[in-house]
Formats: sequence, C-alpha cells, structure tokens
Amino acid sequence: MAKKCVECEKKAIISLAYGPHRFCNEHFLHFFEKRVRKTIRENRLVEEREKIVVAYSGGKDSAVTLFLLNKIFGKSNPIEALLIDEGIPKYRDKALAVAEKNCKKWKIPFKRFSFENEFGLTMDDAAKKAGKKKGKESACAYCGVLRRQIMNKHAKEMKAGKLATGHNLDDETQSVLMNVMDADFERLLRIGPKSEGAKNMVPRIKPLYHCPEKEIIAFAKMAGIKYFEKGACPFKWQAKRNDFRQMVEDFEAKYPGMMFSTVKFLKEVKENTKKQTGNSKIGICNKCGEPSSGKVCKACKMVERLTQAK
Ligand code: SF4
Ligand SMILES: [Zn+2]
Ligand SMILES: [Zn+2]
Repeated sequence: MAKKCVECEKKAIISLAYGPHRFCNEHFLHFFEKRVRKTIRENRLVEEREKIVVAYSGGKDSAVTLFLLNKIFGKSNPIEALLIDEGIPKYRDKALAVAEKNCKKWKIPFKRFSFENEFGLTMDDAAKKAGKKKGKESACAYCGVLRRQIMNKHAKEMKAGKLATGHNLDDETQSVLMNVMDADFERLLRIGPKSEGAKNMVPRIKPLYHCPEKEIIAFAKMAGIKYFEKGACPFKWQAKRNDFRQMVEDFEAKYPGMMFSTVKFLKEVKENTKKQTGNSKIGICNKCGEPSSGKVCKACKMVERLTQAK
C-alpha cells in the first residue's frame, strides 16, 4: 500500500532518507520553505527593508533562491537579480535566457553583465589560455574569481544590503571537506550561511545553506519553477570540486544525514574557535578598487596573465 504523507491523508510523493519524512506535494513545499525561513531567521540573513540582490545564473539553485526571497520579502524589501554572462556558448547564454524569462514573469528587475565587457575576455578565451599554462589551472578557478569580482562590484552599484547566492547543502559540505583536506583553516572558518563583508564588500547570504540539492530540484519541479537543466558547463569536469561532489554524493547515499552533520560540526568548530575569522587582512586593490588581500587583487592578476598569454 502506498505510504501516506506525515502531515495529511494524501499519498506521499517524496520520502527523505535522513528522517521519518514523507510528504505530499503541498506539505513538501511547506516543509522546504519553512527550513529556508528558519535559516534566514536564525542567522539574521536579511534586515528590514534592505535591498536584496540575487546572483541569478538560470540554474535551479539560484532560481529557487530568487523565487523564495521574492515570495518571503517581495512586499517588504526591494529585490533585484544580477545576471552574469561568463561567455560560455551554448550553455550560459541558454541559461540566462531562462533567467530573464523568469525575472519578467515574476516582475523582478534585473541587470546583466558579461566577462567580455568587464575584462575584455570570455570564459571560452580564458579556458583556452589557462589550459596552455604550466600547472594548468582549471577554468573554474578563473571563473570563480572573476565572477565574484563582478558580483561584488555591481551589487555595490545596485546598492545591495545583501547579495544572495544559490549555494546549497551539497556545495557547502564539499567546501568544508575540501578545506579540511587542504588544511586551510582560515578559509574553513569563512564558510557559513552569511559572510560579513570586509571593507568594500557586500555581505553575502546563502538562504539554501541547509537544503540538499535533490530537494531543491524537487521543490523547483513541484512549485513549477522553470530552470535551465539541459546541459552542463563544458569546463565543469576540470574542477577538483567534482571529486568531492562524487564523494559527498556516495557518502550521503550510504549514510543519510551526513551532509547535515558536516555543516553542524563546522558550526561547533566556529563557536569554539577564538581565532579572529577572517577578513581583517583585506584591503583594496590598487588597480580596480575592489577588495583584495594584496596590493593587486586576484582578478586583476588573472586578467593580466590571460591577456598576456599567447
Ligand atoms: S563549471 Fe566552472 S567554468 Fe563552468 S560556469 Fe561553473 S565555475 Fe565557471
Ligand atoms: Zn500532506
Ligand atoms: Zn583588482
């Protein structure tokens, strides 16, 4: 006999392995939104009336982030989306077309920026040049640094009180494990649902910090949110993170709840660590004026290296 929802008499359509959770469509949507609201409330992610700018790629995570922030805060806080075109043909252009459509449907103002306009090169160019360099840095290493720089610069121009991203529980578990295995304690301590901005940096928030990726997909489908799902970035497989993604997936399948306990453990480490976390060493880049721990920021150094590469 089909199992019933734990909240009502309807047939359950989703069952979550880490707890006695079985839900019908309606109660799963409710359960998911409640958890996001709890993350926002307990970590004080959003202040009254401040503007929230959401970094929106067109994928499921940022789509759900934008949808829920707009649902929860749309009447009390200005919400805008920031779209970044890294210049990855047949991938980001398609994803951003979905993003623009959703923004229009949800009546959310958006601004679109591109690597090409900002740095004079696309990710396609950067990946080709990066591949030729010694040590072969992955395309994602460049992409991440350049994207973070555009996000911060334009979120500031848009007068954002907070910059929201779609990072989910899987991403954060991977980051914790990666930093542990790299013995990078400083970076480990910076992981969390909210990163307080250093000088010149818009504070970043992750409302989906406690949401497993699979549940985000289920939520998007059940809530009728359209997102770009046909295809992956062609450079994705270069990243070290992929090995961690696979590892986390295997462990979670075998030991349900392991992702929750990993971020819970990090929280305890942070609460028990007196060490200054952080951003204290961050100053301003001499070239572009964005936050930097050295005289010239990582993004400026990368662009210089890439434009010099033949
Ligand atoms: S997979 Fe890597 S290169 Fe592709 S969009 Fe993501 S970070 Fe950029
Ligand atoms: Zn139900
Ligand atoms: Zn710079």
